[in-house]
Amino acid sequence: MARRSKRNEPEELRKNLLDIIIDFEKKLEEEDLRTQVKGLIPANYVLRDLGSSLLPIGEGSDGARDRILAYLKKYPKTVIHGDELMVVAGISEYARRIRELRGEHGWKILSGTVLREMVDQEAVRIEDLGIVSVEILKTDVYFLFDLYQDRDAAHRWNQAHNIRKSNASVKDKILRYMRENVGRSISGEELRYLAQNNSEWARRTRELRTEDGWPISTKYSGRAELPVGSYFLEEDRQAAPHDRRIPDSIRAKVLDRDHHSCRKCGWNHENKNKNDPRHFLELHHIVHHADKGENTMENLITLCNVCHDDVHSKNITQEELIHLISYNEQG
Ligand SMILES: [Zn+2]
Ligand SMILES: [Zn+2]
Repeated sequence: MARRSKRNEPEELRKNLLDIIIDFEKKLEEEDLRTQVKGLIPANYVLRDLGSSLLPIGEGSDGARDRILAYLKKYPKTVIHGDELMVVAGISEYARRIRELRGEHGWKILSGTVLREMVDQEAVRIEDLGIVSVEILKTDVYFLFDLYQDRDAAHRWNQAHNIRKSNASVKDKILRYMRENVGRSISGEELRYLAQNNSEWARRTRELRTEDGWPISTKYSGRAELPVGSYFLEEDRQAAPHDRRIPDSIRAKVLDRDHHSCRKCGWNHENKNKNDPRHFLELHHIVHHADKGENTMENLITLCNVCHDDVHSKNITQEELIHLISYNEQG
């Protein structure tokens, strides 16, 4: 049944198509329904051949899946409608090819559904997607967010598959998966899969950061340089109880005020290197939550993990921290 589309000169195909359509005029006037329907089959074939011949030779000439990938790579970070993929692929079952590209080949392709759930949890903003309304974000749109092909993808999906089968809660499954992939870019598709496609995955992932204090970064929780659509567990460690429960909106403001750098030593993500124990930034409550310290700008300070440990082992006093904030305000 499935017919492979045949690539040819687009102009050649356009003329063929036109001939068929012109001939169809007679059929429309004279023939019975069945002859009319059959008369359109060649038009359908040639139309598909034309669509799949639009990409230049060498860019995805090897098959439907290659053409889909070539097209997405031509327009990365762009919301692409499934119908466009149908045209370039020359087939209507492109959704299966997308799953293969994601699962076996490690391309970071998000579906509209996942994007929408990320927008709802402020892990993505519509400006980043180049759209004006979330309405367009349906199952049948796609977004390649990263041109980096993850060679470990098959292994990762297998890992996700095993965790997915367990009886743990959605939140625990997500956490377990992230802890097995510290420092790696994880896509919303992986997390949604873990959650058995339950839409709560995005909310739970956010809660792991804002309530449980896991250093899960997104573009909008302090790591502006991260690709739209990815999640990162910075380090396998949960914030001390008094440093949990910081809303993202406050977190972002504090990080901005502190220029995304440790207030004590000046470290930031740009200085990251393997031999340095400083890996990531955390927010610290100067007056601890338990002592009625609040989630306010004045009570929060950005520290690298090393300075933060120092503070907790009492090598830095509250006064010193307050001084660090005010000193830098003026400087
Ligand atoms: Zn520091
Ligand atoms: Zn702290």
